[in-house]
Amino acid sequence: MNTSIKNILQNNDFSKDDIIELLYTNQSEAKLLYQKAKEVKSCQVGDKVFLRGLIEFSNLCVKDCFYCGIRKSNKNVERYFLSDDEIIQAAKFAFDENYGSIVLQSGELKSKEFITRIDGLIQRIRKLTGENFGITLSCGEQNESTYSRWFESGANRYLLRIETSNKELYKQIHPNNSLHSFQKRIKSLRVLKNIGYQVGTGVMVGLPGQTLSHIADDILFMKALDIDMCGIGPYIEHKETPLFEQRSTLMPLNARFELTLKVLAIIRIMMKDINIAASTALQSIDKLGREKAIQVAANVFMPNITPQSYRKNYNLYDNKPCIAESPVECQSCTVARINLANGKVAFGEAGDAKHYLHRMNRRNEILI
Ligand code: SAH
Repeated sequence: MNTSIKNILQNNDFSKDDIIELLYTNQSEAKLLYQKAKEVKSCQVGDKVFLRGLIEFSNLCVKDCFYCGIRKSNKNVERYFLSDDEIIQAAKFAFDENYGSIVLQSGELKSKEFITRIDGLIQRIRKLTGENFGITLSCGEQNESTYSRWFESGANRYLLRIETSNKELYKQIHPNNSLHSFQKRIKSLRVLKNIGYQVGTGVMVGLPGQTLSHIADDILFMKALDIDMCGIGPYIEHKETPLFEQRSTLMPLNARFELTLKVLAIIRIMMKDINIAASTALQSIDKLGREKAIQVAANVFMPNITPQSYRKNYNLYDNKPCIAESPVECQSCTVARINLANGKVAFGEAGDAKHYLHRMNRRNEILI
């Protein structure tokens, strides 16, 4: 057995070189990494798995990201926006079924009408669910006043993946214009944190042009940003996107899967008390992908509660799972999957990230 891996795993914090070595591990070495992550997970966040009902409420998007199936230029997508009542109904389903929280996700829109509409929905959902229900938004980059307004209205968490923390790679996977600015995306994350949201970010693993050194920097970026939540999945090509042309340069899907699992394990060890999601994209490569993520590092599961008829139009990547299912079907499947992964479904719990609670305690101590 490789003694250097064993030595590295004696610590709970890793240098960039350590991370690269851990990402480079062979199967038997990776088992040691997974074992250590499981131990950290068990002692820091236990076996509870928090549920977030995922409502993909619109695929309208002003952006043109080269990897994403719902990018503006993809004319083959039937665009939709759920009615307010459909969104409220989905939120009510999650609340009634004791999910503890929801995620409202969409393409990126910035119009006044959109901002006001989301604001009204947050207020209605907050009224319906009371204080102890988590409302996460994942609606892209907005200006500070919009983020503040939504926070005041009752949203308490925000997910905004940086996608890659490397500026050059970011430029290679996005159009070169002010709508796709790397700096603005980073600034958004800082703004969200200052406002008081629990903040989540993440990257795609296995992007064309991405190296292990980039991924190690991604992990260090998240650590430095002191994030509360993390959503990381493998990059999966979509036929109707520009990056599809580079598919011959990609590593095989199963290697992307294994690498993502290693990234999650390293993050769990280095950022011990954050919430880590078992991303849907893992399941599109391996039927048991999300279970494997829970076994190793993840403690958040996002059952899809988007009304079934819309799902086929929220195709971020090819072979996205759970498209033919209904919210009720996804529910029974969720419980079975979490049990299979030896997790305990935390029904009725909003599931704030422990890291966030620790962060707030520290802040209050300083203020006193
Ligand atoms: N508009 C929101 C939500 C975007 S969709 C925002 O900007 O944050 C949610 C996530 O899907 C993205 O952040 C991206 O990481 C992921 N995604 C998009 N295309 C993908 C692909 N081809 N493979 C894997 N993940 C993808």
